Amino acid sequence: MALVRWSRYFLPTWKEDPAEADLPSHRLMLRAGLIRPLAAGIYTYLPFGWRALRKVEAIVREEMDGIGGAELHMPVVHPAELWAETGRLSDFGPQLVRFQDRSGREMVLGPTHEEVVTDLARREIQSWRQLPLMLYQIQTKFRDEPRSRGGLVRVREFTMKDAYSFHEDAADLDRYYPEVHGAYLRIFRRCGLAVVPVEADPGLMGGLGSHEFMLPHDEGEDTFVSCAGCGYTANREGAAARKEPGPAEEPLPLEEVATPGTASIAEVARFLGIPTSRTAKAVFYRAGERTVFVVIRGDLEVNEAKLARAVGTPDLVPATEEEIAALGAVPGYASPIGIRRDGVVVVADDSVAGARNLVAGANREGFHLRNVNLGRDFRADLVADVALARDGDPCARCGGTLRLRRGIELGHIFKLGTKYSAALGATFLDREGRARPIVMGCYGIGIGRLLAAILEAHHDEGGIVWPVSVAPFHVLVAVLGPGEELQDLGGKLAEGLARSGLDVLLDDRERTAGEKFHDAKLVGIPVLVVVGPRSLRRGEVDLERRGDGLKASVPAAPDAVVGGVRELLRADGA
Ligand SMILES: [Zn+2]
Repeated sequence: MALVRWSRYFLPTWKEDPAEADLPSHRLMLRAGLIRPLAAGIYTYLPFGWRALRKVEAIVREEMDGIGGAELHMPVVHPAELWAETGRLSDFGPQLVRFQDRSGREMVLGPTHEEVVTDLARREIQSWRQLPLMLYQIQTKFRDEPRSRGGLVRVREFTMKDAYSFHEDAADLDRYYPEVHGAYLRIFRRCGLAVVPVEADPGLMGGLGSHEFMLPHDEGEDTFVSCAGCGYTANREGAAARKEPGPAEEPLPLEEVATPGTASIAEVARFLGIPTSRTAKAVFYRAGERTVFVVIRGDLEVNEAKLARAVGTPDLVPATEEEIAALGAVPGYASPIGIRRDGVVVVADDSVAGARNLVAGANREGFHLRNVNLGRDFRADLVADVALARDGDPCARCGGTLRLRRGIELGHIFKLGTKYSAALGATFLDREGRARPIVMGCYGIGIGRLLAAILEAHHDEGGIVWPVSVAPFHVLVAVLGPGEELQDLGGKLAEGLARSGLDVLLDDRERTAGEKFHDAKLVGIPVLVVVGPRSLRRGEVDLERRGDGLKASVPAAPDAVVGGVRELLRADGA
């Protein structure tokens, strides 16, 4: 319903690729005049980019409203004491920007809004009659990321749709959560993206269930696993693989062997002529005051996110050689047999529990032990799956083959439970009149990143190829040549298209035909209407669809052009 004249618009295009841009979306957003950088990870949306963003937002709003969401708008600046109440003033670390207002009060720039929305809930929600409730906003957030990259994929200031649901109990959250999951799939599909929902590591946000929505992408920063056999998907932090048990042997007597110069698993396995899967490896971490001693089969690696969850701590750091030595363990030849146990948590990966007669360190330089068995030779404080899933591992569910894939995370949904409501005292009176903490879910989509993902998925060597659903304009009318007759006709056709309900950009600039065609490809508007002298001599204008280059000619009259353009848009899935 818009008609915009390019000669009076602000849509600066670049002929050359910018040197600093690595991802195609970043390059195209700069070249096609969507964004401009102000500082690292901080961008201005130019009018063309802002139009696209608003179209993405409109889809998000429709789908959130469709599952009962009510839009609100919370502040960017929050009092720090609210963040202190949940402990996240310190947990968030340097990503949280803190400052003092003129009266010396500590404030923060909101990196997310759980605290603010839960504060609102504790003040406003008193009764079960007010539940369930779904609130959402599309709002600016700021996180002082150490490394911003890839244009809008990883930024410091960003636009996010964040939503929060409030429930009487976990059962009601369980009932509602799949509705949000479904809305998310519709949002991404309508934006032209084939997104894979993956089971996510609930991490420290909760522990009740969580999904991430990944766009498969070779340059993505996230890794997830998928199984073609049963459809199982999970992010790498949470992925479980089946571990084949070792040979079913009787436990043999423990035996020390000299293994000079074999401080690595690969070296000791080669020296003894055994596969690494017949060894047990020791890995050490510090978790606050405790040392975490992980014993895992030699062919596997520790998944630190799983380990952190298993031992219930947010901050694991690798232990130093001095800390390892202080336990009586010898780096390179360490095993849990005969070490000091106070202040130590021994975690055995379940791969070790399922194996017999492994080779482990002897806690003595140059020596290993044969026939080490969990339970007989050492005990673990915890047996858990703390291994990283690998490409080609058997699927934990069906035994099929797990594949590792890279992706860009576009959305994340969490069952929070009562983490925030308990911390902030957001309670309600249930049907029996008892005060209980509200059960919550939270649901995010990075809107700018979503726009970048659309460009990652929809471009060719000439430029952007917008899906009709989010295109800043539906149709570009390019007038070739300065003649008054051509300009008048172009204007009249553009008006007719706009009156029919389409968003129209009229390229009335004084540029060569070559430049206009080049820019038309670059900015990628779905249908191009060419008003030029050659076809006009036949009383026609030429239409061309950006996606597949399909061409058509129609009479140079508004109705015919509207009909022709709509046909091309419809066939494109509009
Ligand atoms: Zn499977």
